[in-house]
Formats: sequence, structure tokens, C-alpha cells
Amino acid sequence: MPTKSVGKKTKIFKITIYCKNCDQLLYVYQKEGPGSLVKCYEDRITKDYTNGDLKCSTCGQDFARHAVMRMRPVHKIIQGKVYIRGHVKK
Ligand SMILES: [Zn+2]
Repeated sequence: MPTKSVGKKTKIFKITIYCKNCDQLLYVYQKEGPGSLVKCYEDRITKDYTNGDLKCSTCGQDFARHAVMRMRPVHKIIQGKVYIRGHVKK
């Protein structure tokens, strides 16, 4: 039996991420699996409405930090700075 390394059945949820401070749309994002959002993989951000500096383009609030996880660049979300709309279970 070959091990399945491709085509893993991780469910993708399309969500939108907003600034909690001013309701500015920040990212459209393809989230892997259910659960609360802790981080965004850069390559799964489908639309970026920020200036790429991890700050809200409207109010200037920091909402994430750069990090690298499993060799992939990620934006670690600062809890309480954003809210999510979309198909996410709590
Ligand atoms: Zn804002």
C-alpha cells in the first residue's frame, strides 16, 4: 500500500478577515480545516487588501506578525485584532 501524500482531504474554507477596529477588509483567505484562525499561510491568501505590512490600511493597527512554519511564510494573527466572516466553526 503506497502512502498517500497527494490529494489529502483537507477541507478548504473560504473566509474573509476584517479589522476589528474599523471593519476594513484585510484578506480573502483559504483556510485549511475548521477551527479558529491562528495564522494565515501567505500562499493561501487569495486577495490582500492591505499594503503587505500586516497593518490595517485604514486605521494602521497591527493585526499579524511574520513567521515561518514548516518552511512556509505565515502571518500569525494577533488575537482580538480581527474578526472572520465565512465558514468557520467555533
Ligand atoms: Zn482597521
